[in-house]
Amino acid sequence: MSYTPMIQQYLAIKAQYQDAFLFFRLGDFYELFFDDAKKASKELEIALTSRNGGKDEYIPMCGVPYHAAKQYIKVLVDKGYKIAICEQMEDPKQAKGMVRREVIQMITPGTIMEDESLQPKKNNYLAALSAFDDGSFGFAMSDLTTGETRVALISSWEGVIQEMDANDVREMVLAPNFDTEKKEEMVARLNTTFSECDKDIVPEQLKGITAAIDQDKLLHPLGRLLNYLVSTQKRSLDHLQPAEVYHINEYMMIDLHSRRNLELTHTNREKKTYGSLLWLLDDVKTAMGGRRLKQWIEKPLLNQSQIEKRMDAVAALKEHLLERETLRSLLGNVYDLERLVGRVSFGNVNPREVVQLKRSLEQIPEIKRTLAELDEPSLVKYEQEMDPCAEVRDLIRQAIVDDPPFTTSDGGMIKTGYNDTLDQYRDATKNGKRWIAELETREREETGIKSLKIGYNRVFGYYIEVSRPNLKLIPEGRYERRQTLSNAERFITPELKEKERVILEAEEKRVGLEFQLFGDVRLKIKEQSARLQKLARLVSGLDVLQSFSSVSDRNGYVRPQFSKNRTLSIKNSRHPVIERVMRSGSFVANDIEMDKTCDLLMITGPNMGGKSTFMRQAALSAIMAQIGCFVPADQATLPVFDQIFTRIGAADDLVSGQSTFMVEMDEANYALSHATQNSLILLDEIGRGTSTYDGIAIAQAIVEYIHDHIAAKTFFSTHYHELTFLEKKLDRLKNIHVGAMEENGNVVFLHKVLDGQADKSYGIHVAKLAGLPEDLISRADEILHDLEQSSQDSVNQPVAQPSTTQKVTAEVEAAVSIEEEPEQLALFAEPNAQDESLSLSKRE
Ligand code: ADP
Repeated sequence: MSYTPMIQQYLAIKAQYQDAFLFFRLGDFYELFFDDAKKASKELEIALTSRNGGKDEYIPMCGVPYHAAKQYIKVLVDKGYKIAICEQMEDPKQAKGMVRREVIQMITPGTIMEDESLQPKKNNYLAALSAFDDGSFGFAMSDLTTGETRVALISSWEGVIQEMDANDVREMVLAPNFDTEKKEEMVARLNTTFSECDKDIVPEQLKGITAAIDQDKLLHPLGRLLNYLVSTQKRSLDHLQPAEVYHINEYMMIDLHSRRNLELTHTNREKKTYGSLLWLLDDVKTAMGGRRLKQWIEKPLLNQSQIEKRMDAVAALKEHLLERETLRSLLGNVYDLERLVGRVSFGNVNPREVVQLKRSLEQIPEIKRTLAELDEPSLVKYEQEMDPCAEVRDLIRQAIVDDPPFTTSDGGMIKTGYNDTLDQYRDATKNGKRWIAELETREREETGIKSLKIGYNRVFGYYIEVSRPNLKLIPEGRYERRQTLSNAERFITPELKEKERVILEAEEKRVGLEFQLFGDVRLKIKEQSARLQKLARLVSGLDVLQSFSSVSDRNGYVRPQFSKNRTLSIKNSRHPVIERVMRSGSFVANDIEMDKTCDLLMITGPNMGGKSTFMRQAALSAIMAQIGCFVPADQATLPVFDQIFTRIGAADDLVSGQSTFMVEMDEANYALSHATQNSLILLDEIGRGTSTYDGIAIAQAIVEYIHDHIAAKTFFSTHYHELTFLEKKLDRLKNIHVGAMEENGNVVFLHKVLDGQADKSYGIHVAKLAGLPEDLISRADEILHDLEQSSQDSVNQPVAQPSTTQKVTAEVEAAVSIEEEPEQLALFAEPNAQDESLSLSKRE
């Protein structure tokens, strides 16, 4: 026995779409069969049934109604799956034999166009990669919803990972023979779906997108990306913008860990935007401004004049509050132009969205007028380049009613006066309906039946209805009976049926013509895609600038200066995010001072004292400055940093399967091998992941190496007080510490950064507060004294010799287990690997 013809058809199609769920259209449902059905029923939580497929065994099956398919597709795509939509290509009633079916589109995480599955303020990137023999990579990415397309050459594998992470690539297209090990690494480190495409020659019809690119290494990945789009989307890709080449070394490099550690676009633990730098700086009024903001944060600039241009605009908008407010309210009326243009081109734009496009364009002249008034060169440039696309606006004004329906299937979207034929159909309908109203009056008069009425339903069309008691009043032969109800009869007349035919015909033609006219309007708008996209880019940039200005104004940020001699000097610096979430006025501002004679700051002080906050605020200020925003301080001078490296303990370490210490060393190594003297390095408690002896040795060696060989601006926090002696040995290293004191038996963190090293007896002091036995405290004092001696001695030795440190640790830890007051004890407990949970929780 063999499968039924339909199942055979299914299997033939499914064979071509092995890695996707095949949504197989059967009447009003999309059905899934075999393993697809088993898996989908679980993922979608829908019933798994079965059907007879011709063979003995029943075939597993599940289905979703086609009108509700969107929501199911969204669930699957959000989970990283791909879906092939297979439609009936002919009317089943007219088909001879099996209905012809074809896959009309693939919906994948990187190509989904449905609003329900997209985040307004986040790009949705599809990327492609080509690996070359010299170890370099061609990287291409495109956001199908906005048409943005970019390509870059990346020299290292780590660079590829960073670029994918920075752009949050949803789906990556690779050659089928792509290196398996590398692919596995991406799967492990990134949250991306993978697809394959073996073609990498740019398709003929899309040559326009690649016109400006002549390098083969860039054309290959772009070709792969475009081939994948052509084969999966099977429709117009006209809105894809000409690909832009970018150079990753024109932007500040921030590696994957640092992006996460510094919580640039989402927080570390919860992966939420709330609490990130993106959240802080987001006061944009448009969705596309939100996306642009994210792009800018991911790519801080290196070119000082470009940075200053952004800042000039921010400063002008900060000064002219009134104009800024006007711009903000105008921008508030601008819809997502970029994605609207994408939908126009893709063919799934609805009439309401076309009206949104018009409303958006109507704001432009007023935006331009406001900008012109500001008389600031960098804003005037925006003003001059903004093209209001008046033809598009006027076309929509003339053609589309102001409050159209969502769908195009029943008409009602085209304005009267736009098309003569359409107006005639409408007149015909209107006249016909008037004629029917007149007929009703006439029949009432002639029959004397006051309750006689003319109605309409889909099955019988127009009819005359007479209630049962009045039936006897109808003259013989006047009406033909059509339908009997319990208390009335329904009739027709030949005259009525003739009018009905005219009316319905006109209706049908009207709906058809409206549909066609709407399609024409759409095509005319599509022809202007490039202009609209350029406008969208300017509007979104302006929106980010006004957001910077508003946020800087509200939070008291200052315009930074850039130093040429690597001076880093920030007066009353604050951590912008912590300051925002704390009670107003309670954040303690600190000066960050590293002039050209100082490259390293060694920061000591108790846990929870504010060390890592201090380091992070330096990095965040540098990033804010280089994206063109003002910084949280009273006065700021910074170098333009080429790269930022961080080694800050993070929850990620624990799940990655590597030992904490290995991760620590990997990251330190990455920083040491890539940093230049123009970089910024943050090292938080380096060496804590191993034994004290090892830890101090490694930490000291790292500090010395940075000092002697790199000279990058470096913040180094440590609980190894032994290391503070290095100030005497390394002339560009300075000790600072975070202050704390005791008040009424409580520890008070001052959060004030002070010169010199921390008071070493502090930990013992806290131990005393915690109520440890007197004997133990005085023994600790003794040991401390010894240690001080030994670190003094070690000034001339490469590594400090804390002969007794391990013993101290053991003793103190023993004490910890006697007294169970972890909160206070954490203040002096040695943060080593076992204490991971303590030191992690303090960072939340
Ligand atoms: P450390 O790295 O020294 O253990 P953190 O930098 O993690 O300390 O700071 C601990 C907590 O102290 C932070 O979560 C924050 O709430 C608070 N804090 C840090 N710096 C300041 C400051 N300058 N002003 C006010 N509160 C601060």
